Amino acid sequence: MGTRAVVAGGSMAGLLTAKVLSRWYDEVVVLDRDELPLEAVHRKGVPQSRHAHGLLARGHQTIERLVPGFRDELVRRGAVTNDQHNDILLYNEGRLLKRAPSNLTGLLASRPLIESVLRAKVTEVPNIVTCAGTTVDGLIAEGGRLTGVRANGERLDADLVVDATGRSNRGPTWLRELGYDAAPVDEVRAGIVYMSREYRRVQGDADFLGVISGHYPENPVGCGAGANDGDRWLVTLLGVEDNAPPAEPGAFEDFAAQLDGPELHRLITRAAPLTDPVRYRIGPSVRRRYEKASRLPEGFVAAGDALVCFNPAYGQGMTIAALAAEHLAEVLENGGDQITRRYFSGMAKIVDTAWVMSTSNDLRFDTTAGKQPLGARLLVRYLSRLNRATATDAVVGRQFLEVVNLLAGPTSLLKPTTLLRVLRSS
Ligand SMILES: Cc1cc2nc3c(=O)[nH]c(=O)nc-3n(C[C@H](O)[C@H](O)[C@H](O)COP(=O)(O)OP(=O)(O)OC[C@H]3O[C@@H](n4cnc5c(N)ncnc54)[C@H](O)[C@@H]3O)c2cc1C
Repeated sequence: MGTRAVVAGGSMAGLLTAKVLSRWYDEVVVLDRDELPLEAVHRKGVPQSRHAHGLLARGHQTIERLVPGFRDELVRRGAVTNDQHNDILLYNEGRLLKRAPSNLTGLLASRPLIESVLRAKVTEVPNIVTCAGTTVDGLIAEGGRLTGVRANGERLDADLVVDATGRSNRGPTWLRELGYDAAPVDEVRAGIVYMSREYRRVQGDADFLGVISGHYPENPVGCGAGANDGDRWLVTLLGVEDNAPPAEPGAFEDFAAQLDGPELHRLITRAAPLTDPVRYRIGPSVRRRYEKASRLPEGFVAAGDALVCFNPAYGQGMTIAALAAEHLAEVLENGGDQITRRYFSGMAKIVDTAWVMSTSNDLRFDTTAGKQPLGARLLVRYLSRLNRATATDAVVGRQFLEVVNLLAGPTSLLKPTTLLRVLRSS
């Protein structure tokens, strides 16, 4: 495809994209403004890393295809494998999904560990070069094509440039500086606050490996908690702005009493804390509609949170980053013409389902501005009925889990057999 591809941002999306590009370009240069240690540590450029990060089944399956050996290495370094249907307590609108043994394998690991394993594997590839401590300041274009980037004040030539700079991306600004109008943006502001704390995990302290409790208008608090990196529990509590989880030790544990099930509150009032609670105020969900831009320079790609960042309560971000990398591989497989246009139009379809699933729940809250489209309203209403069925019917529960894990689309829940089961249970 060309001599050099440059990836701005060396985190989840940047690493996955770099791996794909290494097959097609002589050299792939990954630029990140942070130092990038190989160890699993928190760093400035990824402030969300202290909070629970679930990797959906579709996500780790896709990463494994792109980076073979990823899963085994993650487990070797401490990720906790689990049967998502049997080991995780999942509360939806106050109802506990009926537990049942299944082959739906999940991996529980901290965000730094996931990134560290990925970085170790990706940087083994000989034609991927990483430049840490390097800030991308802008793009360079000639005749409607990108020809490079400006980084740390210097020019670096490139045939393709990927913006993988995360939530705080400046891709639209860089494009504007070159004379390109901003692409339309969809935005939903749910006003969620995360607060997280780690605890020591000891043998037999719980008969589950994780608890997920969805927030909903009648009880707008939730949690994502799991066994993590060997002998730890990472517990994230979430609330909306006027009922945010408190940062004071003790009050944090008390807040967990508001969750629908008693299990997590019981666990963390007994477990030994390892850290103080840490807060993260989630910004809006933002979807950059590059596929609708009137004009884009050829050779521009955006991936991960730089393309779409979700309310993280639904755990979709890393999976969509992986799907973007897989989609880019398909685009390149089909030839070198109009990579930018083909990439963004394919991504629009990939993002659609995840976006509707997460924003349609957010838009149920009076505190979230915006109107739910009719289709989304109907979906939410139906899911409420389906939730009731998942409390007693493991078959419906399994189908629901496949949708949540992005292994199946929401329409799979409308099959006549499923509809019948849902009707029967209500
Ligand atoms: C609190 C919270 C919890 C989350 N939980 C989940 C979850 O459970 N499951 C899930 O799948 N996702 C979750 N997410 C989303 C997930 O963190 C992101 O989707 C994922 O990290 C996206 O990776 P990324 O590579 O696009 O961006 P990031 O991981 O944010 O990385 C961006 C990188 O770009 C670098 N950078 C920025 N600007 C520049 C520049 N100008 N030049 C060079 N480098 C630059 C930064 O240093 C950083 O390394 C959560 C997010 C939050 C906020």
